[in-house]
Amino acid sequence: MRTQVAIIGAGPSGLLLSQLLQLQGVDNVVLERRTGEYVLGRIRAGVLEQGAVDLLHEARVGARLAREGLAHEGFDICVGDRRHRIDLKGLTGGKCVTVYGQTEVTKDLMDARAALGGTVVYEAQDVALHDLGGKAARVTYRRDGKAAEVVCDYVAGCDGFHGVSRGAIPKDLLRNYERVYPFGWLGVLSDTRPVSDELIYVHHERGFALCSMRSMTRSRYYIQCEFDEDLEEWTDDRFWDELRRRLPPDAAAALQAGPAIEKSIAPLRSFVAEPMRYQRLFLAGDAAHIVPPTGAKGLNLAASDIYYLSRALIAHYKENRDDLLDAYSQTALRRVWKAERFSWWMTTLLHRFPDASAFDRRVQEAELDYVTGSVAARTALAENYVGLPY
Ligand SMILES: Cc1cc2nc3c(=O)[nH]c(=O)nc-3n(C[C@H](O)[C@H](O)[C@H](O)COP(=O)(O)OP(=O)(O)OC[C@H]3O[C@@H](n4cnc5c(N)ncnc54)[C@H](O)[C@@H]3O)c2cc1C
Repeated sequence: MRTQVAIIGAGPSGLLLSQLLQLQGVDNVVLERRTGEYVLGRIRAGVLEQGAVDLLHEARVGARLAREGLAHEGFDICVGDRRHRIDLKGLTGGKCVTVYGQTEVTKDLMDARAALGGTVVYEAQDVALHDLGGKAARVTYRRDGKAAEVVCDYVAGCDGFHGVSRGAIPKDLLRNYERVYPFGWLGVLSDTRPVSDELIYVHHERGFALCSMRSMTRSRYYIQCEFDEDLEEWTDDRFWDELRRRLPPDAAAALQAGPAIEKSIAPLRSFVAEPMRYQRLFLAGDAAHIVPPTGAKGLNLAASDIYYLSRALIAHYKENRDDLLDAYSQTALRRVWKAERFSWWMTTLLHRFPDASAFDRRVQEAELDYVTGSVAARTALAENYVGLPY
């Protein structure tokens, strides 16, 4: 098979890139290791910046998002029993975020790819990249036990943190930056009414908690836990009891418990691989970087990478210019590092660190007091939360 761009991975990065390229007449093929059902079954992000929303509209997958997405104009930070509202809209001159699940984004993209007749090969096994420095790159894989090959101009590595693309960059050219946090998030999805119309971030002596949602009938809750805890030991009742203990009294009283329809423990990690380009290969999304979910930036960073990469590839094919492709790694990384900083900062601000000294804890308390008490500090928080410009 011959195509212009081979895209590895049918997560949000890969599908969005595929859709944007096809709308501009750039031929592409997506190779995904899993089945479509498996990809859709993964419960992940839920908060979209305006830039991501705009890009989804540009990709013509914004109709359901416009109908069903929930505009959030603020959120609360709770310290002890006190709630402090971060007025996103007021502090940023009218900007807000949209709550719409990653599963829904992925479904909309899958439907759009199918409607446009895009080629997405699911269950592509043993994907391998070759000849990245040659006249044409090759991507080999196996499907139904048969060997197959895609010959292409460029490869977009959109295959997440555990994919193969990043490993195709020689080790001596790749620099990895990483911080692993000494805790995880235990998350529960339930078909219950959210405890509040807006998200609540909780700093509590028992550990961080987050009350989030996917819709007004589907809640997503998280509590900080040990990264190596046994999920089996977390019955639904134990989860709800622990969450209630961390919430301020009014929220705890309003919390509606129900059966968990999904429960998982996610480790927290900050990670960046540089550069994001090697010869004919471009990395995008989680293949190049990971953020702890505290700032709700993972999916949004995937979207901004795809914004830069789609424009660069379209400029190459339609205007015969390569300046955007040549600048891609540097351009994307400037925004990536700002989101990394913000996600690290929010994580550090709101969690209990087991190895924190008495001094560290006092500094954390002072920072929480400053952020909740200063308009300037809240403005900086809000500016980053709604998303820095592309
Ligand atoms: C448990 C969890 C919770 C999260 N919660 C949040 C959140 O609350 N807020 C937020 O903003 N972000 C969150 N994230 C991050 C967010 O989900 C990711 O940033 C986002 O999915 C990145 O999209 P992506 O397309 O780059 O990568 P992915 O979604 O990982 O997609 C990569 C795709 O590539 C495929 N693939 C992998 N290897 C291969 C291969 N060898 N060959 C072919 N295909 C391959 C995978 O099957 C997958 O479909 C969370 C992530 C996880 C894991």
